[in-house]
Amino acid sequence: MSGEKGQSLVLEPTPPAGEPFVPTPEETAGPFFRPNSPAKNNFREAGVSGAPVRLTGFVLDRKGDPVSGVLLDFWHADDRGEYDFKGYRCRGHQFSDARGEYVLETIVPGLYPGRTRHYHVRLQAADGPILSTQLYFSGEARNATDSLFRPDLLLKLRRGAASVVATFNFVIELGA
Ligand code: FE
Repeated sequence: MSGEKGQSLVLEPTPPAGEPFVPTPEETAGPFFRPNSPAKNNFREAGVSGAPVRLTGFVLDRKGDPVSGVLLDFWHADDRGEYDFKGYRCRGHQFSDARGEYVLETIVPGLYPGRTRHYHVRLQAADGPILSTQLYFSGEARNATDSLFRPDLLLKLRRGAASVVATFNFVIELGA
């Protein structure tokens, strides 16, 4: 598993000294966030179907250094385009590990009216501000008509042996 994880690392080249990384753009959390999600890094549990995705990457600070212990709270629609408001299906939080890495085993989210395909996530380092944002899939017809879509929030997609590997590295502001 660690080998497969290693192959998914896609770190951008380090910019010249003193040039900060651009923070990940903020987007609305939208109306479907639920607080108090359980600790969970695998959404492919009973009652969840859909094409498997391993969503992974690093959390970096503005110098490009990995940040451990950052809360990542993910939520998204199921493969029918529905959010769970009774329980926490396709909802869960985790913390970036000692190398700043996160891994979420999940599915391709379904489409729902008015939106292109997306994941939601809220990140927060200890004492840092909350960053709410969304992640998108390339090749989606609705990307052209969804006003929230941003090309700088596109996942890097790669087909693995058992699932699609979707990579995104977040850049966050740290607390004072
Ligand atoms: Fe949504």
